Formats: sequence, C-alpha cells, structure tokens
Amino acid sequence: MNASEFEKQNLFHSGTSLPESYVPNFSGRAYLNPLTESLNIANVTFEPGCRNNWHIHHKGGQILLVIAGRGWYQTWGEPARKLLPGDVVEIPPETKHWHGAAKDSWMSHLAIGLPADGGSIEWMEAVESSEAALLDGAEG
Ligand code: MN
Repeated sequence: MNASEFEKQNLFHSGTSLPESYVPNFSGRAYLNPLTESLNIANVTFEPGCRNNWHIHHKGGQILLVIAGRGWYQTWGEPARKLLPGDVVEIPPETKHWHGAAKDSWMSHLAIGLPADGGSIEWMEAVESSEAALLDGAEG
C-alpha cells in the first residue's frame, strides 16, 4: 500500500513531519498530527520500518490506540507484540519500551500522554537491528 492509499485509512491524518527535536529518536520517517490541547492526544504515523528508540515515559505513562496499518510494541525484556487497528496498549510510567511500523507496512496510532506533575520522556538507544530483523522475519 502506498502513502496516499494508507492516508485514506489514517482517519486522523498524518499531519506534518516530526519536530526536529524528535528526529534523532526515530529510525526512519514519522509524522505527527497534534489533535487536542487540554489532554495531549496526537496521531503518530510511521513509514514502513520506522520505529522509535527505546524510551521511558516518566511519571505519566502513555496509551496507544492503533488506527491503521501494522506495527510492533515491545517492553524491555518481553517479546514484541504485534499491533493491528483497534489494538490498545497501556504503557505504565517508568516502563522502557518502543513502538513503530512493521517493515512492510505503514502504521498509525493515537498517542495519549497521561498528565503528571513533572512528566517527561527519556530517550535511549535504538532498537538493535538484529532484533528488528527477527520481527520482520516473523510477519509472514
Ligand atoms: Mn512511548
């Protein structure tokens, strides 16, 4: 599926390229469409093969609602979980994890940042390519 076909399924739309400050924390291209201000809800769209680095949401945690395409979510020390439209991922604070698209598919999810005093994101190392290759081989 090409980008314009995917966009028809991407109900909350791609928006614009990620802010520059986020780019070093993503492997590949991603897009951000902020939707609300009272609560931080944004649509994040990953091009095929794009993932974010391992990271931790301190204090607040995060909820992902998968909108379109296929992707992966992984918590440190656990097997990766395949993501499909309609899937819900509840990420507790202080949990090291990453999320992103499958190698051969776009993926979009709403990202809801759970409000907390002093909440922050700590960005860490990229997902090892050997690990990503295993996932890509498992998709069938
Ligand atoms: Mn996250």
